[in-house]
Amino acid sequence: MIFIIKDSNDNREDGRSFDELRSLKIESGILKRADGSAYLELGGNKILVAVYGPRESFIKRLLRPNTGVIRCRYNMAPFSVDDRKRPGPDRRSIEISKITAEALRPSLLLKSFPNSMIDVSIEVIEAEGGTRCAGITAAAVALADAGIPMKDIVVGCAAGKVNDEIVLDLSEKEDKEGQADVPIAIMPRTNEITLLQTDGSLTEYEFEKAIDLAINGCHEISKIQRNALKRKYEESL
Ligand code: UDP
Repeated sequence: MIFIIKDSNDNREDGRSFDELRSLKIESGILKRADGSAYLELGGNKILVAVYGPRESFIKRLLRPNTGVIRCRYNMAPFSVDDRKRPGPDRRSIEISKITAEALRPSLLLKSFPNSMIDVSIEVIEAEGGTRCAGITAAAVALADAGIPMKDIVVGCAAGKVNDEIVLDLSEKEDKEGQADVPIAIMPRTNEITLLQTDGSLTEYEFEKAIDLAINGCHEISKIQRNALKRKYEESL
């Protein structure tokens, strides 16, 4: 009788193990005109973030007398995906813009600058699955680069279910063909979750396993975020 020992690598088309992130690179402070900026590559994703503020806003009705306000705009370039994306906002980008602001807001000490606005602009130049989490990760670096006072640097990562396995950081193909996707964002110092979404179906056990795996992924990414900021700081000394 022949026994076939199943290697967990067999489960992922790109050869990654179940708990392996795609290759990740983050740089901070790359845009001259923005107050803060970051560039991130995660697998085939390329994302650029610019932060402006805290500053007075032209849109006075958005300002609050007791607190600062954060506004995010997530945008996918028409050339970022296989089928050219129609330029301009759609339901998906409006949703991602909203959840991005919600994921970042708890980390910011917004009460320190009342009547001010922070604008975060996330441009997805190339997309390959997981752009909402990658956008949040890059935006948090850009906010730190802008010197905005914050409790922690928020970090995003997804886990999900593919071929009945719980796996980390789904690629576009895994996202489209898999059974579930669980994007999260956390404040890594406390593990407080600031974003939790689920697409697909999971048992309670699988859901908890996916969250644990995504939290571990967030901690790995967090080190790379901090290194990107340290490098920029060291270069400017
Ligand atoms: N995508 C696409 N066209 C679109 C929107 C998304 O090809 O108009 C792709 C893109 O690679 C994206 C992936 O589908 O990363 C998964 O999209 P989803 O809405 O699940 O968000 P994400 O995983 O990027 O956070």
